[in-house]
Amino acid sequence: MELRDTDDAAPFLASDAPIVVKQQGGAWPSGLPEKVCANISTGPSLIPIDIGHDGYMAVIDPDTAFWSLIRKDRLSDTLTDPAFIQHIHDKDSIFAAEMSALRFGIAPSAVYFNPTERCNLNCTYCYLPEKMRRKGRHMTQRRLFEALEILLDFFRRYLPTGLRPQVIFHGSEPMLNRTAVFAAIERFADEIVFGVQTNGTLLDPEAIEFFTSHQISLGLSLDGPLAEITGRTRHTYAGGGIHERVIDVLKTLRGYRNHSVICTVTTENLEYLGEVVELFHDLEVPTCMLNPVRSTLAGGREVRPSDADLAEAYLRALDRSYELFQQSGRKLVVANFANIILAIVAPTARRLMCDISPCGGGRSFFAVDAHGDLFPCSEFIGMPDFRGGNLFAGGLENCFDTDAFRSVTGRTVEVIDPCRRCAIRNFCGAPCPAEVYGLHHDLLQRGAFCQFYWEQLRYAFRLIADGLESAYLWDDWEKATSTVFEMMIP
Ligand code: SF4
Ligand code: SF4
Repeated sequence: MELRDTDDAAPFLASDAPIVVKQQGGAWPSGLPEKVCANISTGPSLIPIDIGHDGYMAVIDPDTAFWSLIRKDRLSDTLTDPAFIQHIHDKDSIFAAEMSALRFGIAPSAVYFNPTERCNLNCTYCYLPEKMRRKGRHMTQRRLFEALEILLDFFRRYLPTGLRPQVIFHGSEPMLNRTAVFAAIERFADEIVFGVQTNGTLLDPEAIEFFTSHQISLGLSLDGPLAEITGRTRHTYAGGGIHERVIDVLKTLRGYRNHSVICTVTTENLEYLGEVVELFHDLEVPTCMLNPVRSTLAGGREVRPSDADLAEAYLRALDRSYELFQQSGRKLVVANFANIILAIVAPTARRLMCDISPCGGGRSFFAVDAHGDLFPCSEFIGMPDFRGGNLFAGGLENCFDTDAFRSVTGRTVEVIDPCRRCAIRNFCGAPCPAEVYGLHHDLLQRGAFCQFYWEQLRYAFRLIADGLESAYLWDDWEKATSTVFEMMIP
């Protein structure tokens, strides 16, 4: 950009208007008509972005996440079109309020609850310390009931009437404390919406019947299309494979709409992501996640792909999911990518809380470990610096104000360099604070997969430019959304 003297600036103003070089006290001098221009003064900031599309560029306002797709040959005309700029300006406060509510106005409504420290698997990239997983403790049933009563009492006071909180039994492996978990679900099912994130190996027919009859949301994990690939990262302590066991469970779950599968993407399965998508689609899995491995601990760092390799394999897998949808008429939603599309087309309809700044940890949800210790997110369990008190010692009321929680909820993109200058900062959110802390011992570093986010965003914008976004989203995604701004310029 070039700075000009006042005479050169004249073409930006109405032909007879006097030239005004300064705003005074935040308002135009009286008697002069306010003129709103992009990227100047109170006008919207609109940064053009190359999305790799033949016909379109995107323009983004980084603060509000407002965006528009503009034909490449009309870019300069559109950015200087007074009607277009004025229309955005008129809606700007709505966009800003919506983004602010999403980033800073959400009350906690969910808990990731570890009813045990133990796990029967020894996945190479696990973010929980091995000693804890091997020799840790279970929470007793009595203590688990007590914890859920404390949580319910808290949520009754803060959640709108009629809204039930969510408790997701999480790992380590919650099924190792099966009796207590089942008893808790039976006891509290009317007051709490439960989910279970499990490695799937301990789901026998009785457990599957229990969960499906209670309509419990089930999340499983599988890393490859073949036992040899899955076994590279997910196995028992003795190195035994678990692939076939999980496949059997997924076959039993066929037709149950309330389950999903996480595939953790590493250097070990990168080239098989297309086959993973085919397998999940064949098993009629409704939703999967292709989650880049978290580099929180050394094991994750050892199998971490480069951003470029990850983006190439991941986008190919998304292409494959679309082909399968076209062939079969049945979608396999890749939830972490669907969330990126939602971040663009319907920001408040996002379902996952990692790609937002600050992330959901410690504000829209929090985590409780098997001792009752409170953390902003499960990803921090095992990091004493991020313990925000204990549930049984009255810590729930205060944990949100502890340094442990505030360091995470205060980690906004505006305090991170270079995120504060990044056009996609409110689509990416610079995740994940726990991973960044594990990598750098400094929360104020950019997200671990920065370039990968950028490529996802470009891909998502290309789909939107071609009118294909709905093919990648849940069928009901438009429910409860409304259009704030739509303008077609001929
Ligand atoms: S970004 Fe990390 S800390 Fe935040 S919610 Fe996601 S996993 Fe948890
Ligand atoms: S991590 Fe990278 S893509 Fe994400 S906001 Fe920061 S600079 Fe932008």
